[in-house]
Amino acid sequence: MSAIDTLPPLREVIAAHGLSARKSLGQNFLLDLNLTAKIARQAGDLTGCDVLEIGPGPGGLTRGLLSEGARHVLSLEKDARCLPALAEIATAYPGRLSVLEGDALEIDPLAHLTPPIRVAANLPYNVGTELLVRWLTPPEWPPFWQSLTLMFQREVAERIVAKPGSKAYGRLAILSQWRADAGIVMHLPPGAFTPPPKVSSAVVHLTALPEPRFPADAAILSRVVAAGFNQRRKMLRASLKGVAPGIEDHLVAAGIKPTDRAEQIPLEGFCALARALETA
Ligand code: SAM
Repeated sequence: MSAIDTLPPLREVIAAHGLSARKSLGQNFLLDLNLTAKIARQAGDLTGCDVLEIGPGPGGLTRGLLSEGARHVLSLEKDARCLPALAEIATAYPGRLSVLEGDALEIDPLAHLTPPIRVAANLPYNVGTELLVRWLTPPEWPPFWQSLTLMFQREVAERIVAKPGSKAYGRLAILSQWRADAGIVMHLPPGAFTPPPKVSSAVVHLTALPEPRFPADAAILSRVVAAGFNQRRKMLRASLKGVAPGIEDHLVAAGIKPTDRAEQIPLEGFCALARALETA
């Protein structure tokens, strides 16, 4: 297959800059540039978009995003050792790559981005879920991003797209599916990464809906879902007891059987319950 750019192969980049992978930073690198370009394509049409990337490392996905036509990529990287390698990519794509060094959980990247904005990342597993939850729970909806294309451990990816009745169904599924369309678009075996992680991975693509799928107050919905799934084996009349007085009546008003368990309730039911509690 033809090269995606004229920069050196990633193995050479890693050797030249001494980028031995650090477990503490969740470093499992993707070295196949055709694979990173394929992941970049899952993010949709990047031309005319700014892309926020978390954890570029030696820059495999960064190069994929740029070769696929992203207008501008802003990459946030905690490991300063990666910066010289990323500077070489910035030189090869003049004016199209900016890198901020630091912890993605602490940097507010918005001042550096111009809409429309897509997010794409082979996330460090230790911060992936936290970032996803933050991106899904901004103070205002629609959010700053049009889409999120993110690598997760396969098990986490399955929790994001899970449907009622499955073991994976829970808070992450409700949060993701309430205000976004979410689907798994790629599966990757451990051997796709260097070094290989212990678990399989999957890429999830989420597209922000213009407004939530069903009306509900975000804070009430979040409280109900957290309480329901914290004790997922209990009937809702017991697990939600502390949420509001007379919870059985609210459940009935929302069309939910008080003897059901959280994992049986579809998103629409949780939203109906949040509305019933709001008007109580
Ligand atoms: N994107 C590269 C690739 O696909 O080969 C690297 C992916 S590696 C799984 C995760 C990257 O995130 C590493 O480069 C690591 O240094 C970086 N990282 C870890 N924690 C971070 C944090 N809190 N903020 C920003 N970057 C972080």
